[in-house]
Amino acid sequence: DVRVRFAPSPTGFLHLGGLRTALYNYIFAKKHGGTFILRLEDTDQSRLVQGAADSIEDMLEWAGIPPDESPRRGGPLGPYKQSQRLDLYSRTAQQLVESQHAYYCFCSPQRLELLKKEALRVGQTPRYDNRCRHLQAEQVQEKLVQGQPHVIRFRLEEGVEAFQDLIFGWNRHEVAQVEGDPVVMKADGFPTYHLANIVDDHYMKISHVLRGSEWLISTSKHLLMYRALGWQPPTFGHLPLLMNKDGSKLSKRQGDIFIESFRRDGVLPEALLDITTNCGSGFTTNRMGRRIEELISEFNPAKITTHSALIDLEKLPVFNRIHLQKQIENEEQCHLLVKDLREQILQAYTAEIQEREVLHEDYIKRVLQLRKGHITSLKELVQPTYSYLWVRPSFSSQQVAALTSEAHLIASLVLKLMEEREEKLSVEELGKDLKMLAKKTKATKYRDVMKLLRLTISGLQQGPSVAEMMVSLSPAEVSHRFQKLLQ
Ligand code: GLU
Repeated sequence: DVRVRFAPSPTGFLHLGGLRTALYNYIFAKKHGGTFILRLEDTDQSRLVQGAADSIEDMLEWAGIPPDESPRRGGPLGPYKQSQRLDLYSRTAQQLVESQHAYYCFCSPQRLELLKKEALRVGQTPRYDNRCRHLQAEQVQEKLVQGQPHVIRFRLEEGVEAFQDLIFGWNRHEVAQVEGDPVVMKADGFPTYHLANIVDDHYMKISHVLRGSEWLISTSKHLLMYRALGWQPPTFGHLPLLMNKDGSKLSKRQGDIFIESFRRDGVLPEALLDITTNCGSGFTTNRMGRRIEELISEFNPAKITTHSALIDLEKLPVFNRIHLQKQIENEEQCHLLVKDLREQILQAYTAEIQEREVLHEDYIKRVLQLRKGHITSLKELVQPTYSYLWVRPSFSSQQVAALTSEAHLIASLVLKLMEEREEKLSVEELGKDLKMLAKKTKATKYRDVMKLLRLTISGLQQGPSVAEMMVSLSPAEVSHRFQKLLQ
């Protein structure tokens, strides 16, 4: 059975890099009819961020890649929060101590600090010197009885634990050569990442570990621990990092790579999934506009390359436009968009809306149909450029006079046109009618006629084509606005 997990630490909110790791896991699971698990690695109690745990799960759901098993959903092999599994870690640590794969270490923070300083002074990488490996059983007992503070360290075996990474291929990393024995249980009784991670992957029956390539270097250590415990390790695949298109680090500190802020800005989840997979590798082809089902069917892990994935966030609006169009064309999703947009209209214009008609499903739908392919986000539609859709404009007689002396004539021509206009007139047809209409004026140029029409409909000088603006509004509403010119 394929079982994969996304295992973030709730020490921060979900960002683009995390979403991408989760997404690859999700796709991998669905491709193989497997299970996608969310596990929260919250053992570093000092770094927990309030609200992050909930928000991470919210964001996965929002993005449309919900976990099958998680802290909130539960599942057969939970709990899914490490802080609720402490017993399991201490039992495993005990097991390692008893089989002599791990030992108590009583070295004081001061001693460790000195070791570090000394190493740095002679230009070496600091590492623990494994001193407590050599304590006699009686010494250990005595210190434990005295209640001396201690950690538990894993004894790194000499030699290579070669393994084949799904993405990086063969890996032969001789850990004991470069690292001191790692702590597995901290003085406060909490496990370190290394222990908790492998214990959970084992007991949660994880078949494949797909995680960021920053963990590649830790994997040999994890494999030594699996061996010491007599457990079968999962298969590993390390995903290359996500970087800015200029190769710089995708900083977590720029607020704008947090999934919450993309959502706030009206970015569609589909667009986000598309852009994070489009820049990387792992798919048979590279094209824009893929939705999750296509991502799953076109996914091929053998195609993931080892170099970093460069993301060009400046293209996000284009991705958003494409996916917005797809949603508008899908009846069910369009209905949701209408609801969303209606909320936004109410928020932006409540006081000024005179015609409740503008809040009707059919009306909003027609607007969406007309603007799809042009707008990159629903938010645009509540910006001033589109205010004519929801409220009546204001303009002055001076503005009218500056354009034409034939405002009355033009207004009556428009009113006549509206009376004859059929409900389902297309933008092109109306465009032709307007050309004809402009010919009937004597002293006004076509351009100025159009400017007057635009002013009367929207009070603005720019926006979509005049014909489109007129088609979006009902004939009655257009007429109402032109009546004003007759007063
Ligand atoms: N908690 C680790 C992280 O935040 C998980 C790494 C892993 O997937 O093993 O990245």
